[in-house]
Formats: sequence, structure tokens, C-alpha cells
Amino acid sequence: MRPCYCKSGLLFSQCCEPILKVEVVAQTALTLMKSRYSAYCLGDVNYLQATTHDHIWSDEELKMIQDWADNSFWQHLEIVNSSEDRVEFKAYYIYEGKQHVHHEKSVFVKVNDMWKYVDGEILEDKIDFLRNEKCICQSGLKYKRCCFLKIKA
Ligand SMILES: [Zn+2]
Ligand SMILES: [Zn+2]
Repeated sequence: MRPCYCKSGLLFSQCCEPILKVEVVAQTALTLMKSRYSAYCLGDVNYLQATTHDHIWSDEELKMIQDWADNSFWQHLEIVNSSEDRVEFKAYYIYEGKQHVHHEKSVFVKVNDMWKYVDGEILEDKIDFLRNEKCICQSGLKYKRCCFLKIKA
């Protein structure tokens, strides 16, 4: 009975879990994108590879992505915009003691009724959370009492 990693507000078992287990197919590019975020949260690199279109990752790429997924603390997914085959999102995470946001405009393609990630344009964002404001992870705590504690000076 855990809330889904993708912050949809649904239970994991009724949101991304059946998609990650390949029991159901993501019906939209947005649903696929959310499931890929959940896969990052879970370190499920096989799923990420399986849902990438037309690109087989090298061992080095796989290692890099596995490291990024496993060693990041995934805080929040914000969908900025989406259309049939495009999703613009911001993924907030802490990596190596630093606050990050990954802002991307992703492109997806439907192949044999399955949505796949093609590639994306990465946008540079500055991030500066105020310590006294509510934390982005939706814990309800102030940033300084929550994710900020994972930041290293
Ligand atoms: Zn989900
Ligand atoms: Zn937090």
C-alpha cells in the first residue's frame, strides 16, 4: 500500500507497478514517462533499456545510469507539459550531497503499440530551494528539516 514513486497520487500497485512488471502496456507517452521515473527510483535499469527506442546501451552507459539511479535520492517528478508524443518534466533529486533538477523535453514514439523513449532536450535550470519553504518531496516538512539534511556543504 505504498504511494506511487511517480507522485501521481495513486497507489504504486495501481499505477506504475503493473507497467514495470509488463503486465499492462503504458497507454500514453506520459504514462510511460512516469513509469520510467519510477524505474529510476527503483534502479530498474532493465526496464529503462527496454523502453528506450533504437539504442542499445554500452556497458559503460549501463553502469552510469545504474549509478545515477541507485545513488540518487529521487524527491519529486513535476510534469511541466505533455502532448501525444512529448513530455516536458522536471525530476528533482539529490546526488552526491547536492540538490539537482533534471529538466527535459522528451520525445517518444509508438512502435508496435508500445511507447518508447527516443531522446530529449535537456534544459539548464538553476535550483535554489528556500530552507523555510515546504520541501519539494511533499513530505509536508520544511526543506531545512527534510531533504536539505542530505545536502553536504
Ligand atoms: Zn506511478
Ligand atoms: Zn524532502
